[in-house]
Amino acid sequence: MAEETIFSKIIRREIPAEILFQDDLVTAFRDISAQAPSHILIIPNHLIPTVNEVKASDEKALGRMVTVAAKLAAEEGIAEDGYRLIMNCNKHAGQEVFHIHMHLLGGEPLGRMLN
Ligand code: IMP
Repeated sequence: MAEETIFSKIIRREIPAEILFQDDLVTAFRDISAQAPSHILIIPNHLIPTVNEVKASDEKALGRMVTVAAKLAAEEGIAEDGYRLIMNCNKHAGQEVFHIHMHLLGGEPLGRMLN
């Protein structure tokens, strides 16, 4: 059984967070250490430690994460100019919180990461 992270406490509203969206499958809140004018984390409500543990039964929640990312990008006013969605997995990607999360970053030019 994977160990809970601080994100489970945010989902249960046991610690403060600026929650922008929550439904039966996912929760979205502002990153505490924003790396861009809009920096939001979108997470499944159930614990999946890394993308390596994703199963077919998680597909509904993962699909919802993308739908919610698009909705929040529109609400943030960054949809037209564009934004980046990132999921880090394990140490080479610098994953720090072992409850999968999608970063939604935008609000300024982000520079290219891939060529
Ligand atoms: P990772 O490097 O992809 O695992 O990203 C973890 C993210 O979680 C980082 O951007 C952190 O700033 C963010 N984070 C960690 N703790 C909290 C919190 O309590 N509230 C909001 N964001 C957090």
